[in-house]
Amino acid sequence: MREVLLFSAGLDSFPAWHYLGKPPALYFDIRHYGRQQEIDTVQALASAHGMDLTISNELDLSAWATPQGDLIPFRNVLFAMLAGFRADVVWCVGVKGDHTADKSPEAFIRMSEMLTAFAGRPIRVDSPFWNMTKSEIVAWYLEAGLPVNDLLQTFSCATPEDAFAHCGRCPSCLRRWIALTNNDIAGHFASPPWTWDRIRAYYLPAMASGGYPPHRVEEFRRAMATVGVFPEPPR
Ligand SMILES: [Zn+2]
Repeated sequence: MREVLLFSAGLDSFPAWHYLGKPPALYFDIRHYGRQQEIDTVQALASAHGMDLTISNELDLSAWATPQGDLIPFRNVLFAMLAGFRADVVWCVGVKGDHTADKSPEAFIRMSEMLTAFAGRPIRVDSPFWNMTKSEIVAWYLEAGLPVNDLLQTFSCATPEDAFAHCGRCPSCLRRWIALTNNDIAGHFASPPWTWDRIRAYYLPAMASGGYPPHRVEEFRRAMATVGVFPEPPR
C-alpha cells in the first residue's frame, strides 16, 4: 500500500507527518498568494528532518486565487486526484469540526468513492486528525517530545506581510494563535491576533449565535482569556 501526505507547511501537517510515521510528503505549488513562504518552509522542514518531499507544479490555480487569500473552491478534490496517481492512501489533514465543502469526513468519503471508481483500485482519502482539534494536535506533538522550535518553523498564514511573518489578521493566523496559546506557546505574529477587528465584528457574534461547534468556541474562549478577554458563552 502506497501512501502520501498532502503537506502544507502548516501547524497541522507537520505534526501529521510525525503522527503517521513520516510518510512521503507532497506539496502542490498552486501559484497562490504567499506561496514562496510556504515553499521555503516545506523545503526547510524537509531538509532538516529528512522528509521525502515532492514539490509538484502540476497545478496552476493562480486564476482562482485572490489577494485576500480566500480558499480556492474544491482545491482539495484536485489535490486528491493528483495524489491518487501516486498512492492508495491520500492523507489530507482536516481537524475536528472542519466542514468546508471539500474538507470534512463526508467529503473525503465521497472523494474516496469517486477516485476508487475511476482508478479501478481502492483509493482512500482520509485525515488522521478528524477526532482532534488544532489545540489537541499541538498537545499530542508536545507530549510526543517533539521540539517546539520545529513547530514554530511551520507556516500557516493566508496573507503574509513579508517573509515568514504571520500577519495576525487572517483566519489561519487566528487558529494558529489559539492552538499555540492553549499549549502555552508564544507564536510570532506581525500584529496580535486577539486584536484583529474581525473578532468583534464577526467571530464573537457568530459564536454567540451558535454558528461554531462548542469545542471551537471553548478553545477560542480559553485562548482569549489568557489575554484578558472573556467572550460571552454561546446561548
Ligand atoms: Zn495571517
